[in-house]
Amino acid sequence: MQCPKCKNEMKEAEYKGTKYDQCKGCGGLWFDALEAEDLVEEGKGAAAIDTGDAKKGCGFNKKREINCPVCNVRMCRVHDLKQPHIQLETCGVCKGTFFDAGEFKDFCEETFMDGIKDRLTKHR
Ligand SMILES: [Zn+2]
Ligand SMILES: [Zn+2]
Repeated sequence: MQCPKCKNEMKEAEYKGTKYDQCKGCGGLWFDALEAEDLVEEGKGAAAIDTGDAKKGCGFNKKREINCPVCNVRMCRVHDLKQPHIQLETCGVCKGTFFDAGEFKDFCEETFMDGIKDRLTKHR
């Protein structure tokens, strides 16, 4: 598969049975539908797969108009409601999601921390 951002090759990898693709060039991560959610539930552990350079990812974050590497249709840019600084690209057809390097880590860690906060407040 070709990276939708920098056109480098994306390499298939696996974390605890969940498959994903990581770009050899920009370090971006690609997940097919729901794979990302599975990993986010793992919390901080899953953040370890985001080995790309976050600074580099930030630069690629500015590249807005990308096509889905699977279906070749324009991807939608989405903001996480709870974490507006994280901007992802999602495909409306296959529901695949692209995270720039550093974004997935950010996403996992914040979701993980939010989960803890939720639990603490509920127990009060
Ligand atoms: Zn790339
Ligand atoms: Zn697609």
